[in-house]
Amino acid sequence: MRQYLSKIILNLTRKERMNDLNKLNISQYHSINEIKELQKSKMLTLLSHIRQNVPYFKENINELNLNTNSYLTKIPFLTKKIIRVNKEYMKAENYPDKNFLPNLTSGSTGEKLEFFSDSTNEIKSAITLRNNMWTGWGIGEKRVELWGSHYDISKTNDIFSKIKNLFINRNLVLSSYNMTQENMYDYYSRINKYKPKLITGYASALYLFSRFLEEHSLDCYSPKGIISSAEVLFEHQRNSIEKAFGCKVFDRYGCREVGNIAHECEEQNGLHINAEHVIVEVVDETGEPCEPGEPGEIAVTDLNNFAFPFIRYKIGDIGVLSDRKCPCDRGLPLLESVEGRVWDVIVGTNGNRLVGTFWLIKDIKGIKKFQIIQEKFGELLVKLVVNKDFNEKERKKIISRVHEKCGKEMKICVENVNHIHLTESGKHRFVISKVSPFVN
Ligand SMILES: [Zn+2]
Repeated sequence: MRQYLSKIILNLTRKERMNDLNKLNISQYHSINEIKELQKSKMLTLLSHIRQNVPYFKENINELNLNTNSYLTKIPFLTKKIIRVNKEYMKAENYPDKNFLPNLTSGSTGEKLEFFSDSTNEIKSAITLRNNMWTGWGIGEKRVELWGSHYDISKTNDIFSKIKNLFINRNLVLSSYNMTQENMYDYYSRINKYKPKLITGYASALYLFSRFLEEHSLDCYSPKGIISSAEVLFEHQRNSIEKAFGCKVFDRYGCREVGNIAHECEEQNGLHINAEHVIVEVVDETGEPCEPGEPGEIAVTDLNNFAFPFIRYKIGDIGVLSDRKCPCDRGLPLLESVEGRVWDVIVGTNGNRLVGTFWLIKDIKGIKKFQIIQEKFGELLVKLVVNKDFNEKERKKIISRVHEKCGKEMKICVENVNHIHLTESGKHRFVISKVSPFVN
């Protein structure tokens, strides 16, 4: 009953969002060529707007031949540094002040960014609803968020937000900051009572919770799907979460600046780019496009933000594009994977650049948590939180893997620690690198 009530309220109060959602549910099955045409037409409108109305772009985009296919590559990249310096000049002059809502990224690597959101823009929310629906969840059904961002949690703490969350959004927010045994037991009880159809959370928090459920043989309520977000999702984490909750895990990639960028469908084989909303490029250190399958830096263009435009914006992540077509029949192109942050690239003495970290601990017994730190070229520190199954044989396996991937000259220190600190925004950093070639 409450599901239908929530649906009716949403349809009445968020007409634009629901209209966008209906259109998005159709366009996801359009052919790739139709989607590219739509992107180009949106891009041309956006470019013409920013060259007339946004001071920063007026100064920094020269005459463009918009009729060529490579027009996008002629536009300079945006970085957090540029936005920080030019924030006021990036606001569209023809938008009223009330449209600009101050916003802030979590800054998991200490790189916080203040920017403005457009208060009237509903498409980001419509995209999120569509992606949520890919898990089997329906509009108005209950959700649980296991979330860590101070910003989001603080928004849900006042009484009005709590009522809105429980009766309209039907969303119960649980903090992923203090995942103590007592809190996790409390979360387990609350989830079983609330019976959400969808659970969303940070990969590391969901994993920790799934391990807790398994270790204590607790039978948790099984939602239709689980969305893992905000961190790279490793295979061992996915397996553990799926086992503990008895449902599929869907990987989501997004950021606060532009919203959901890409999301897994039921095939769980790459992330569909929300291509009606964003253009995703993957480029090397010189800014040239990478081939599908080749890792590089992600630059994203928000096609629907006319108030504070993000165009060719380097988010700070390493990703890989794919030219495969998904068996689900959606025409939306695929992002093969997101490997990690540009700050997290490890450089081997053999010249190898490593962005993913799963290779290090795959099939190694007894590891509860780990972190790799590269302070300087030629040296690597591996921090491990282990249990009784970890022994000298496993330690040697790690050292030999590092040598194999990074070169024999790499000096390695494996250190057992009691605890690995989370970032300020509650995320687990698997890699800390001071030598990444993508960061200058
Ligand atoms: Zn698919």
